[in-house]
Amino acid sequence: MSIVVMKFGGSSVADADRIRKAALRAIKTRKAGHQVVMVVSAMGDSTDGLVDLARQVSSSPSKREMDQLLVTGEQVTISLMAMAMEAMGQPAISFTAGQIGMITDDVHTKARIKSIDVRRIHEQLDAGKVVIVAGFQGVTKEGAYTTLGRGGSNVTLVAIAAALKADVCENYTDVDGIFTADPRIVPTARKIDRVSYDEMLELASLGANVLHNRAVEFAKKYNVPIHVRNSNNEKKGTMIVAESHGMERIVVSGAALKDKLARITLRNVPDRPGTAAKIFHTIATHNIVVDDIIQIVAPNRVATVAFTVDLADLADARKVVDKLSRELGCTATYEDHMAKVSVVGVGMRVHTGVAERMFAALAKAKINIQNITTSEIKISCLIDRAQGKTALKVVHDAFKLGKRNKR
Ligand code: ASP
Ligand code: MG
Repeated sequence: MSIVVMKFGGSSVADADRIRKAALRAIKTRKAGHQVVMVVSAMGDSTDGLVDLARQVSSSPSKREMDQLLVTGEQVTISLMAMAMEAMGQPAISFTAGQIGMITDDVHTKARIKSIDVRRIHEQLDAGKVVIVAGFQGVTKEGAYTTLGRGGSNVTLVAIAAALKADVCENYTDVDGIFTADPRIVPTARKIDRVSYDEMLELASLGANVLHNRAVEFAKKYNVPIHVRNSNNEKKGTMIVAESHGMERIVVSGAALKDKLARITLRNVPDRPGTAAKIFHTIATHNIVVDDIIQIVAPNRVATVAFTVDLADLADARKVVDKLSRELGCTATYEDHMAKVSVVGVGMRVHTGVAERMFAALAKAKINIQNITTSEIKISCLIDRAQGKTALKVVHDAFKLGKRNKR
């Protein structure tokens, strides 16, 4: 019998009605002759509600207690899901992470899965039950609860699918799949049928917000294809798969906008070995994630170093950088109005002219490019946030993403 692992995100289990609908969907798959494992998230945005409650009682809750609290969200869903199925006549059983030996390291709030003991899952599947697993949570070998990072139920999905060597791994959400751009901003955006792991990784980190990067990394490592689809309809969604021959025929697969960025510029930085190491080491030890970095060295042996951070980290970064610049004798400026527009596609490896097409589209819309960064399969331009949405639209148009790009 083939094994299907299906994950239902928060919006797909937001209320009793939707839980019943998800249960029906799993039962249908079971009746079609498959063994079914379900991974579920907390209902709706109830995890946000829990975070909010924590903030109300403490300005800096410990990470251990945060995990202890957040795991409760998924536990509500698993038991309700099992009850809903039993009420429909389908034998089912729910498991917390501890009950299936989902062991992680002890890095609270961003733990990594180390092993899964799939024996109990197999036992229950073989007994004809649908197995329902709490997403997002794990336990340390000492038995403490951990969580895998916000949005981490996707990581659970892929980890379970890999451990069970499942035949199908489905991620149910409230959208039809991955789009060529955010359809809320670009109405002509089109659903993509197939996208490679690497493209998905770039799109996710560029603000496409569909799948947790770690889930995609995991899927790539174990070669688990993920089918992202809508829980409200039967349409085929987007397959996230290993790169295959023919994919490079499409030059650009998608465009993305990351619009809450800030830029920090350090001027008169002494141009000598170890300076960049000192700057970025100090920033990293404060858990501030740096996006793109550029350095320009002037003939008079001083450098300008500019980098971007998430707007949410700007206040923290400012404290650190103010102190650093006093130590190094340089000056720092802060801009809180940046955005980044990017195009992604494995076809860039073999096609030329992608960069100029993107720059020309931005120029025509009178959008000033303030910085450019590239990877093998991505080109990004830093721009002013006020022009972010327009930039995404014109770039999406320039590559005719709304009209063709069939794979
Ligand atoms: N409930 C968790 C969150 O909201 C995990 C998830 O939904 O994937 O981050
Ligand atoms: Mg959630």
